[in-house]
Amino acid sequence: MVKCVCGKEIENAPTWLGDVNVTFICNNCPTRNVKGITQVDFTLPQTEEEKAAAAKEAEAKAGKKATR
Ligand SMILES: [Zn+2]
Repeated sequence: MVKCVCGKEIENAPTWLGDVNVTFICNNCPTRNVKGITQVDFTLPQTEEEKAAAAKEAEAKAGKKATR
């Protein structure tokens, strides 16, 4: 039986998967705080252009508050 890192059995995972070196996380796992690569925040600027645009945007927002 394949088990989650929290100890719960995962029924719909094939038993042979238990011999593979992977970490199993069940649904609603109490230890489910490790972010997978699919959960990485892609809203962060990726390119220099995007970074510049984000910086401008942040400046504009800050400027609005600072401007009379
Ligand atoms: Zn779990």
